[in-house]
Amino acid sequence: MASKWNDQPCHLCGAGTLHDGVKWVEQAYKGKVFKSESRGAFCDHCADGFVEFDQDEESAWLAFRKQVDAAEAADLVRIRKKLKLSQLEAARLAGGGKNAFSRYERGQAKPVAAVINLFRLLDAHPELLSDLRA
Ligand SMILES: [Zn+2]
Repeated sequence: MASKWNDQPCHLCGAGTLHDGVKWVEQAYKGKVFKSESRGAFCDHCADGFVEFDQDEESAWLAFRKQVDAAEAADLVRIRKKLKLSQLEAARLAGGGKNAFSRYERGQAKPVAAVINLFRLLDAHPELLSDLRA
């Protein structure tokens, strides 16, 4: 069945016509790219258009974000252990309360970007840890 946009003039550019079709759509989350094949109506002139809402696609997008968050949490655990820090010591460096780190590692809270960036820098330059402790 054709969508309500099929064969309609494109209001986005005013020059083309929309046609039903599929298109690869990319969305980024924390620098990781999620690609999905989206059904919709797309302009034959400007290539812009409308994407139909798809529950399976929405679920896949949410699962992708969850996976990125879980990988980030696993990375924090790995770096903390590499630096031989307890969760409490890590929380002192990162701020956010004494239980913050255990909450990050269990996925109960999302660390702000500064925390992730700090630990990635320490991962690459563990010798800087002594500067922070001084
Ligand atoms: Zn157009």
